[in-house]
Amino acid sequence: MLEVIKFIKKNNIGRVIQNALLSKYTTYKVGGVASIIVFPKNEEKLIILLKELKDKGIIYKVLGYGSNVIFSDKAFDGVIIRLDEFDKIEIDDKKVTVGAGVSLVKLSYKVMKEGLSGLEFASGIPGTIGGAVFMNAGAYKSDMGYVVSEVRVLTPELKIKTLYNEDLKYKYRSSFLQDNPGYICLEAKLVLSHGNSKEIKELMEKRREKRIMFQPLEYPSAGSVFRNPENDFAGRLIEDCGLKGYSIGGAKVSEKHANFIINSNNATASDVKTLIEYVHNVVKEQTGVDLKVEQEFVNWE
Ligand SMILES: Cc1cc2nc3c(=O)[nH]c(=O)nc-3n(C[C@H](O)[C@H](O)[C@H](O)COP(=O)(O)OP(=O)(O)OC[C@H]3O[C@@H](n4cnc5c(N)ncnc54)[C@H](O)[C@@H]3O)c2cc1C
Repeated sequence: MLEVIKFIKKNNIGRVIQNALLSKYTTYKVGGVASIIVFPKNEEKLIILLKELKDKGIIYKVLGYGSNVIFSDKAFDGVIIRLDEFDKIEIDDKKVTVGAGVSLVKLSYKVMKEGLSGLEFASGIPGTIGGAVFMNAGAYKSDMGYVVSEVRVLTPELKIKTLYNEDLKYKYRSSFLQDNPGYICLEAKLVLSHGNSKEIKELMEKRREKRIMFQPLEYPSAGSVFRNPENDFAGRLIEDCGLKGYSIGGAKVSEKHANFIINSNNATASDVKTLIEYVHNVVKEQTGVDLKVEQEFVNWE
């Protein structure tokens, strides 16, 4: 890894951190040590870096705010790439061009102030634009698929390409990017509609209060653990199985919202994973429903 550090510095790729605790870069606040975290300055530097990592066979992972991932407790012997410097926000009438590293919450408040409607669903989703485009993040019967018109991506072959809404194959919490590993979202274009700032703000505030009331936001978590099965709610199934408050090590099924697992007391990543598997198995045995995990396990193999 010393060679990679040297390469990053020599080529002025961007800020770099060595031996970083992943618990500081994920909302569950679990995970081992990453050899390198790098914040490329721009697209050109990102491509130079990726070319080198690919040539040398070094593993890497693009990370947003880590609000949907569970890194294992073991060391990540590779490079974590954060796109915080991809922070452009340009608003032209109803069209918004936004960099992959921008906070979705920040963007939703900014467009609200501009009197633009369409991102009210997103004001409580603590990720980046890149993570949201990848996950098709959503809430309140809306998601990124409704507002993204096109995405500028880097292909696995390191070519810059535009993918349009229909190319992104958006479905409930799924996208072309999830199904095709190696694509990196650099920037997205959203098309919103004109609305009334005051009304948009009121709706966002109402939803924020609802989240505070029904979600355990006072604890580290990564939001909903399981996808909702068709015409049902994962939380309802978990609650009906009597699992609210069940804990393994420092990980616990939230008493407030059964589809949240919280890091209630210095949990390890293994505690979280073991509890997810336990909940999955109990729900399957008691109800026959095979819940699908929404969160992503990284570096477990
Ligand atoms: C309290 C809480 C509430 C939540 N509520 C919701 C909710 O209501 N609805 C919802 O959908 N989600 C919710 N989430 C989950 C999470 O916030 C979303 O999935 C979010 O979109 C993840 O964004 P991120 O930037 O943190 O991505 P990360 O967790 O960092 O990464 C997720 C995946 O996206 C990939 N990725 C990240 N950036 C890029 C990029 N630029 N290009 C390509 N791939 C990339 C990563 O490699 C990884 O595979 C919640 C989470 C928390 C903690």
